[in-house]
Amino acid sequence: MTWETIRKDATPGVTPNLADYERTRADFTWSRARAALAGLPGGSGLNMAYEAVDRHAGADRGGKVALRCIGRDDTVSTVTYAELARRTARFANVLRSLGVGRGDVVFTLLGRCPELYTAVLGTLKNASVLCPLFSAFGPDPVEQRLRLGDARVLVTTASLYRRKVADRRPSLPGLAHVLIVGPGSGELPGTLSFDALTAAAPEQFTIPPTSPEDMALLHFTSGTTGAPKGAIHVHEAVVAHHATAAYALDLHSEDVYWCTADPGWVTGMSYGIIAPLVHGVTLVVDEGDYDARRWYRILGEQRVSVWYTAPTALRMLMRTTPRQERHDLPVTYGLSALRFVASVGEPLNPEAVVWGQEVLGLPVHDNWWQTETGCIMVANFAACEIRPGSMGRPLPGVEAAVLERGEDGRALITDGKVTVLEKPGVEGELALRPGWPSMFRGYLNDKERYEAAFADGWYLTGDLARRDEDGWFWFVGRADDVIKSAGHLVGPFEVESALMEHPAVAEAGVIGRPDPVAGNIVKAFVSLRPGTEPTPAMKRELLAFARRRLGPAVAPREIAFDQNLPRTRSGKVMRRLLRARELGLPTGDLSTLEGPA
Ligand code: AMP
Repeated sequence: MTWETIRKDATPGVTPNLADYERTRADFTWSRARAALAGLPGGSGLNMAYEAVDRHAGADRGGKVALRCIGRDDTVSTVTYAELARRTARFANVLRSLGVGRGDVVFTLLGRCPELYTAVLGTLKNASVLCPLFSAFGPDPVEQRLRLGDARVLVTTASLYRRKVADRRPSLPGLAHVLIVGPGSGELPGTLSFDALTAAAPEQFTIPPTSPEDMALLHFTSGTTGAPKGAIHVHEAVVAHHATAAYALDLHSEDVYWCTADPGWVTGMSYGIIAPLVHGVTLVVDEGDYDARRWYRILGEQRVSVWYTAPTALRMLMRTTPRQERHDLPVTYGLSALRFVASVGEPLNPEAVVWGQEVLGLPVHDNWWQTETGCIMVANFAACEIRPGSMGRPLPGVEAAVLERGEDGRALITDGKVTVLEKPGVEGELALRPGWPSMFRGYLNDKERYEAAFADGWYLTGDLARRDEDGWFWFVGRADDVIKSAGHLVGPFEVESALMEHPAVAEAGVIGRPDPVAGNIVKAFVSLRPGTEPTPAMKRELLAFARRRLGPAVAPREIAFDQNLPRTRSGKVMRRLLRARELGLPTGDLSTLEGPA
């Protein structure tokens, strides 16, 4: 089915930051984008937290509300830019007093609470490195990332610490300090109270000189094989956060902005914390979980004008909004302030774009990027038509291309050269020309993997796409085996490894099975050790075992027993074949298969 292009005669409310796509692209340079930021006083560099907080607090915007926090019980509290400047200065002083300095890694394992913003921005002020974790991770992924990321400090809550870290602490000798937000640190040996320490710390802090190339953020992401990869981002990334939020999210300083992304995900950081604060907007922070009515209420009561969310959430809204409520939803919930809706993280089905138009009165603007790119790369813009199902066009300052691919699905590299597919409509690997400020600068301690991500002057994204004759990009799928489930990028290897820790499991192969709401769900095929029966009870036990270790965001939702998992001659489980069988697709070339297919 083809969907009609959504044309925009006029955008509601404000003049879009990007009014003319071609002209803005032609005029754009990253150095001009850099000049829109202040830089540290005295020319001592560029620091994300200074741009996000102190710059506003120091000007006449200190009294403006930076955070409007909605508790689980619906109570609303606000934090002004001046107050946020003080809180983050206090936290930077806490770190300094603990001997935590430049380049040391501070992890957060927190939901969306006010202290998250204090911890993140205070860490950046101290020129330390911030690494956020998903609170839906289980103890295995948490421990592994704390170890790989060389954590010195962890900021978390008593409950999360007890459930996910306390037992593993002996295997993390480098983790010098655990700071507990809220009550409970007194009963947990080896922890300190975040609240008591920050309350006692001075509220003056001078940000040390920060080079734009100093490491600022560490984001773990998953690959097809091996351990999670720590993508390194530097302070200069703030230039791209700022520029792309202006163009792709159309942020203006008077906006009330709500980003529903989990703070453990790159979106929760780049566009959940940094970019909106750099723009000086008021940020809505909801501590609660997804609930359709609650979400509509927040959009209405908080007068949200720009909303950045994700396809799974939109699909859940589409499913759970009763038909009779749909036609007058904007009136029922008072959504008159809402003027721009964007989505990221997984393919946005055209139905969801059109649902936005019909039910919210605004189409949903899909955009594309990934942990490694640090900022939005391809987007649908406020002033431009939308082709439902398309990710849009490259941002100003971003060059994207589709590369011819080889048999393994990835870009074909011949003698170090790749081929750009000039002909429209042909599928290949999506590639980006390096040079934008928020491009990752490395995978932590893994130079080889970083280098393998580039070829012939292009960064290879691992995604398959096609470009139409007018330059719109269309997502096709992943070129590798990683799974996008409800927006989470799940590495099959991590799931297989956890399952294989169970004494009954001989081998496991993990794939994504398409799901109408979550995009994909994680499905594991398991072969059991001799003497173990493939009973429903065993299935339940394995599901619970995986969930305990990996957490709900990563654990498989389905398990199937298969004593003859297809393996390559080199012994690796062939996920591609498992997936093809599951979906009833052609199985392709089986010449490397060990046994019968
Ligand atoms: P992450 O690094 O966890 O943000 O995941 C990045 C991956 O999510 C991309 O490489 C894509 O596979 C997928 N993704 C992100 N945005 C989109 C989008 N708009 N459409 C389709 N896939 C997307």
